Amino acid sequence: MSPIHLAIVGVGKIVRDQHLPSIAKNPDFKLIAAASRHGTVDGIDNFKSIDDMLAAVPAIDAVSLCMPPQYRYEAAHKALAAGKHVFLEKPPGATLSEVADLEALAASKGLSLFASWHSRYAPGVEAAKAFLASTTIRSLKVIWKEDVRHWHPNQEWIWQAGGLGVFDPGINALSIVTHILPRPVFITSATLEFPENRDAPIAANIQFTDAVGLDVSAEFDWRQTGKQSWDIVAETDAGQMLLSEGGAKLSIDGVIRHEEPEQEYPLLYKRFAEIIKAGRSDVDLAPLRHVADAFMLGRRKFVDSFYD
Ligand code: NAP
Repeated sequence: MSPIHLAIVGVGKIVRDQHLPSIAKNPDFKLIAAASRHGTVDGIDNFKSIDDMLAAVPAIDAVSLCMPPQYRYEAAHKALAAGKHVFLEKPPGATLSEVADLEALAASKGLSLFASWHSRYAPGVEAAKAFLASTTIRSLKVIWKEDVRHWHPNQEWIWQAGGLGVFDPGINALSIVTHILPRPVFITSATLEFPENRDAPIAANIQFTDAVGLDVSAEFDWRQTGKQSWDIVAETDAGQMLLSEGGAKLSIDGVIRHEEPEQEYPLLYKRFAEIIKAGRSDVDLAPLRHVADAFMLGRRKFVDSFYD
């Protein structure tokens, strides 16, 4: 079968760090064009806008949309309307309703829409899910604390409405939690801390439960200097499970059970090719729904202004 002719839109940090090397190694895809206002990709046709690209390169079969979430719907709608399969970077959009609209459009046109959640493909995640399914969980706690100045320097969009603030990394944890827990959880209370000069939170404390009263909590904080934490800790009848390093490493009672080099983006492109071949979409909105619920239910607290 000939490769899927792919185009990429929004050439920035994640495209250079992850998409380009992963696409280059996947024989199911051939990157043939890019659209970005400033960024370019060597060796292919580059355009300033998705409209120009779609008009000039009819051979495009699929498009990966890697711009910030606030600007993704319009591009996704144009790509689907033009008959292209669509890969959405995480979070899949700025609202739940716009992604539902895209899902319906993809279905009506027989196209594949992929709401990607890269952290779900971290090496320890499937083993954690299997471990939790094999025992009784007493509680689960997420600690996701990083230094925003190091990881998101000068990314203005991330602090604007729809940019999600600390939920931009926090949603990665939520994508893992919603995948590994045996039953759906829902938020019962939350506190969101907003810098006085920003429209998105710098920290969040969230309590969840499920149908049988499980104690689940999450602490997200962008003010962490020194050691960074991307940990999920579960107390269970079979011991303490620690899924650390963003899902890369699984330990039970301090003994490492699973640790492999990470392959998140190669696995995302493998999945995208699979769903295109199968003629289906993969759109799980649970992580984004929890973020929306936190904004809906959470108390707001104003904290010191933040400057990069
Ligand atoms: P970024 O570098 O700040 O933005 C990506 C590109 O989007 C920019 O280079 C820019 O390209 C385009 N863009 C920026 N503002 C735009 C606007 N107003 N309208 C249209 N295009 C705009 O961000 P990133 O770190 O790559 O993140 C992009 C997405 O990937 C986010 O949803 C993020 O959550 C996700 N992601 C990021 C990481 C990471 O480590 N950085 C990891 C996983 C997922 P042009 O100026 O050339 O148009």
